[in-house]
Amino acid sequence: MGIRVGIIGTGLIGEDHGRKLSSVISGSTVSAVTDVRRERAEQVAAIVGGARVLASGHELIASDLVDAVLVTSIGETHAEYVLACITAGKPVLCEKPLAPTVAECERIIAAEVAHGRRLVIVGFMRRYDPGYQQVEATLRSGAIGEALMLHNVHRNATVGEGYTSTMTMTDSMIHEVDVSRWLLDEEIMAVQVIPPKRTPKAFPHLQDPQFAVFTTESGILSTVEFFANAQYGYDVRCELVGSLGTAALVNPVVASTTAGGRASAAVPADWRGRFSGAYTAELQAWIAGLARGECVGPSAWEGYAATKVVEAGVEAVVSGARETIDYMDKPALYR
Ligand code: NAP
Repeated sequence: MGIRVGIIGTGLIGEDHGRKLSSVISGSTVSAVTDVRRERAEQVAAIVGGARVLASGHELIASDLVDAVLVTSIGETHAEYVLACITAGKPVLCEKPLAPTVAECERIIAAEVAHGRRLVIVGFMRRYDPGYQQVEATLRSGAIGEALMLHNVHRNATVGEGYTSTMTMTDSMIHEVDVSRWLLDEEIMAVQVIPPKRTPKAFPHLQDPQFAVFTTESGILSTVEFFANAQYGYDVRCELVGSLGTAALVNPVVASTTAGGRASAAVPADWRGRFSGAYTAELQAWIAGLARGECVGPSAWEGYAATKVVEAGVEAVVSGARETIDYMDKPALYR
């Protein structure tokens, strides 16, 4: 039976994680699901097999059927459920963001510190992507010297009309915020967002693309080109420039076609294709850690720090100015 996971929010990623937890990950089952759209929870219960559909997130957290909780509901609900998990003493993997506001993240940190033991991890799955892991290992090996600049590219094929100019930070560039902090092992102290010429392919209310510059504690620049309506597919790139060389992601290619004088390879349609392996590795590490009594994954501190940068990033999108960031002291639990 292993670790019995309850899922709160059975939309796109809740269903995706549910499939993995019930059939790919070793040591876990999905024992309960809930969603404000009950019919979605029922569909996902049928997909994962054997999960009870419960009436609310709070009923799920309190249930004896659930050893650990996966929060994959919309961001605005995350803090409420993560805080309830801490009160119940249950481990929780919360999809990004930990919470949309810094104040909520601070409440989560205060609650976990008062509890005295780590229970919360945040779904920053790029840390589990083999390409990013190799870039990180190359930097730590010393082979490229000291990190000076990190160049990130994040392109989506399209986004819906509801996507806004600040969701570029809250929904999308939050991944580059986490990757920059994790790879460079430094906090981001300032952020500026520069709007390039707009694509005619975006709705008029959306500034697309956007170009962000993050500055770390020691002055490393991490740049992000985020392009929401790039048309051709989902494309994530990263090159780390060091004092002795560079390390870059190579997009995973499983097969290519050579015909008619051309060689080509498919581009993933969205994040599910590109990062499926990373989600699996993230979930497996979480479950294997819980089986050993450990909390393995990016901590609530990582979630707080990312939301701090994103909050400044939202201001920077609006102001065009370079916005600086102050952090609270890091509690001993996260050192
Ligand atoms: P989604 O498809 O909209 O699914 C979210 C589900 O939660 C919806 O069915 C929603 O119902 C439901 N919900 C809303 N309020 C709820 C509540 N109080 N209790 C229980 N369920 C509730 O969204 P998604 O794309 O799966 O994203 C979910 C979360 O995962 C977001 O925080 C997102 O940022 C994150 N995410 C992370 C990644 C990643 O790469 N790590 C990728 C995708 C998503 P309604 O539709 O009625 O609101």
